[in-house]
Amino acid sequence: MFKERIYWKFIVSFVLFGISILTISLLLLTRHAQVVIESSVAQSIQFQQARVDAVARFFTESGSSSVVRLADSMEAHRYMLDQNLDDLKVISRWMESIVSASMDHYRVEMYDTQGKVILSYFSSPQKFIRQDQTSVGMVRLSSKVLQENVFNRYFPIVPASQYHFSDHPNIKVMLVLAPIFKDGYGHIAGYVGLYVNVDLLLKVMTTNNTLDLFVADKNNNLIDASIPNANAIWLHLINNPQANDYVAKERRLVRYPIEGINNGQGLVLYSRAAKSFLVERENEIRQDIVNIAFVVFVFSIVFGLLLAVSPSRVVTRLHRVSKERNQYLKIMDQYVPVLETDLHGVITNCNNAFAIISGYPKGQLVGQRASVLSFSSDRAQSQDMWDTLTRRLPWQGEFHNVTLDGREFWLFSTVIPIYHDGKVTGYMSVSTDKTEKKRLELLAEMDSLTKLYNRAKLDKCLAQEQSRARRYGTYFSIILLDVDLFKQVNDTYGHLIGDKVLHQLAIMLNHSTRITDEVGRWGGEEFMIVCPETDLEQAEIVAEKVRKAVEEYEFPEAGNITVSLGVAMYEAPLDLQRTIAEADCYLYEAKKLGRNRVASRLSKVTSLKTVGKARS
Ligand code: GH3
Ligand code: MG
Ligand code: MG
Repeated sequence: MFKERIYWKFIVSFVLFGISILTISLLLLTRHAQVVIESSVAQSIQFQQARVDAVARFFTESGSSSVVRLADSMEAHRYMLDQNLDDLKVISRWMESIVSASMDHYRVEMYDTQGKVILSYFSSPQKFIRQDQTSVGMVRLSSKVLQENVFNRYFPIVPASQYHFSDHPNIKVMLVLAPIFKDGYGHIAGYVGLYVNVDLLLKVMTTNNTLDLFVADKNNNLIDASIPNANAIWLHLINNPQANDYVAKERRLVRYPIEGINNGQGLVLYSRAAKSFLVERENEIRQDIVNIAFVVFVFSIVFGLLLAVSPSRVVTRLHRVSKERNQYLKIMDQYVPVLETDLHGVITNCNNAFAIISGYPKGQLVGQRASVLSFSSDRAQSQDMWDTLTRRLPWQGEFHNVTLDGREFWLFSTVIPIYHDGKVTGYMSVSTDKTEKKRLELLAEMDSLTKLYNRAKLDKCLAQEQSRARRYGTYFSIILLDVDLFKQVNDTYGHLIGDKVLHQLAIMLNHSTRITDEVGRWGGEEFMIVCPETDLEQAEIVAEKVRKAVEEYEFPEAGNITVSLGVAMYEAPLDLQRTIAEADCYLYEAKKLGRNRVASRLSKVTSLKTVGKARS
């Protein structure tokens, strides 16, 4: 499907991106879940409080109202004064009906002011209402208890055994006590007490799957709890209020006085989230998180793979391009000479190709002036180059250079400014090696025997000088030179020696002329010297200098020889051929007059004797 290779790092980064997003979402989710748990715990607690309230109200109100009604009745009042039997009958039936009104009405009793039992009715397990004769006469409620609780209708919930009930000693009972008043001044004649079996109530109060519930009296005595072995935990919680939130916020103990009992003065319900509930919820959340994480992970791998395709393609192509580029750079480094200089022409860098062609080790060039490479400097060209470069334009031209070991080489270079942050900081030349071409060109212009210019090159030089003279209105001179009686040299020493003489003569001509003069072989044993911007008089001096040098030179194999020279000057807009013809004519003149002399229009003939005069 994909031609390019897929880069794992892209997949990994996309997957990591997915995972980090996932992590953040899961953190938020966890926080949110915590809030949800917290609110569900709070809701559960509220619900439990309302339920407990309603049940407690139902449990206590019916019993207490009937007890109060009995205590406030005429019959109870009269009986306490005169123990009338008719009243006793009514009271007994009344008490029976109270016990039978609810399964939770465990026992109802009547007391005198000392707490001594006068009447006692209870509901047997077989649902028969019985009078308990054995209890009559015993002191159930001590006077101390009575005094302390005289205005409390509800007594703390305690095991039935605490009231000395031996039939069901373990059930928990709540005593609802109503005083029988003697008169309108609050004097008490006795009491009616209803013992309500609160086991069912406590069961309702302490049953909730999501909560830990504690029921305590107002003095923090634990009465019942939803968890086993609650006593130790209860003591710990009550004695260390800071420890309440020792697991989590949801585990804070919430206190609620149960309104339904004694208007909140009797029992207190303490609630907190059950640990099992929290653990369950947390496990659910954990499972959700694991599921979500798994799905996101799988998806992020798939998407990572898909998303990685496009950048992988780009990278593959970049790699290919960079490989190609490096190949080109390598080729350039090896075959294209590149040189960098600063603004003052000091070399700052060069590549391998340049080092190879120049014969310099790379490091040796850096820091040197570029001019160290010049073989011959062309001032006009150099001026042109710097003018162009300072105008920030590229310059092209040929450099005649010399290697470290003295060999000439020619470069055709393109020089461009190097920019850094918009400023020119130096120059770079990119060159092609023109040495071979130059060599061929020179060979084509060179006479093979004398290594001087050949006739063709002399013609070119003459044409150039002519056009320059015409353009600038200047002049130049030409000297034609012919070896005297050369046939004899050949005849005497042979052609080979004759050739050698011509070669030595050429060297001598080069030495005895100026660097600006151009010397070439005109043909056979005839030579031409072109002297730019030289008038006839000066040219004659040059010719005489040459003549004299030849005359004085002792040729190793041929001894002394002489030359005759004809001189003519070109002036624009003359015809060049006429000047050449003139020089040839004066050469003939010199021959005619006896050879070994210089002749021109100016002097006609400069003999050996007149030369001395001309010089002085
Ligand atoms: P003059 O010019 O003084 O009148 O006498 P000359 O002997 O030099 O006469 P001429 O110009 O007629 O002869 C030129 C001779 O130069 C003829 C030819 O053999 C010889 N010569 C021309 N070219 C070469 C060459 O390349 N090598 C050798 N060895 N001899 C050459
Ligand atoms: Mg000759
Ligand atoms: Mg000749």
